[in-house]
Amino acid sequence: MGKIIAVANQKGGVGKTTTSVNLAASLAATKRKVLLIDLDPQGNTTMASGIDKYKVHAFDEVVCRETSGLYDLIAANSDVTAAEIKLMQVYSREQRLKTALAPIRDKYDFIIIDCPPSLNMLTVNAMTAADSVLVPMQCEYYALEGLTALMDTVSQLTSVVNNKLHIEGILRTMYDPRNRLANDVSEQLKRHFGDKVYRTVIPRNVRLAEAPSFGAPVMYYDKSSTGAKAYLALAGEILRKAEQNKQKLQKTID
Ligand code: ATP
Ligand code: MG
Repeated sequence: MGKIIAVANQKGGVGKTTTSVNLAASLAATKRKVLLIDLDPQGNTTMASGIDKYKVHAFDEVVCRETSGLYDLIAANSDVTAAEIKLMQVYSREQRLKTALAPIRDKYDFIIIDCPPSLNMLTVNAMTAADSVLVPMQCEYYALEGLTALMDTVSQLTSVVNNKLHIEGILRTMYDPRNRLANDVSEQLKRHFGDKVYRTVIPRNVRLAEAPSFGAPVMYYDKSSTGAKAYLALAGEILRKAEQNKQKLQKTID
């Protein structure tokens, strides 16, 4: 059964979309079957995957499109805002995405959901459907405060609608090792969250910012860039962790 990972942080511009697109492409490059879901009315993940958001009817139906990144995509655009408003009026409104994914979940090894920059009903739907939450963050002064709010939401959802939900990992993005504040925040992060912080760090890399305008993940735009290598390393780390967890679980069963 496919593992569902919600990429979330209510803070804007921290690298959620960049991470979703490039992680999806990197996992697909390791021959995993991947579905990427754009759950943000901004439709950035859709455009960065080479699909024109103005030409799709988002969420009328679950249409999985093939993309340049070798993963399937469920596209989004401003229609998703209307869908969110409609959601407010329906029963079990937080379960809608989970129910929609149930019949297709088995077709994939990984389903990655790019969340909007808020803790709204769309994000709650993502976290209700997901097994885990991957949190991209920039190592800035206020970052830790925002992280606490996100962790509170995750633990509330864990107790109310999704008891298997956990933190997949915290990813340091747009990292500049020459910046002292970034190093300080990074150290605090490791102290607080231990091995939940990925060893892989995503550096600031202009190729990552350029790739969306070519409608392709960075590995198909400049495969030797530090950005492309970093996201491949992240995919490797996630796959290794998943394998270790499977072995641990097997040992407890034996
Ligand atoms: P939003 O909250 O609006 O959805 P987001 O969290 O999805 O934003 P992105 O869109 O991925 O963030 O990134 C914000 C901006 O920073 C984009 O212009 C993106 O191209 C750029 N960016 C992201 N990661 C990097 C990086 N590692 N190096 C350089 N630029 C980056
Ligand atoms: Mg985004």
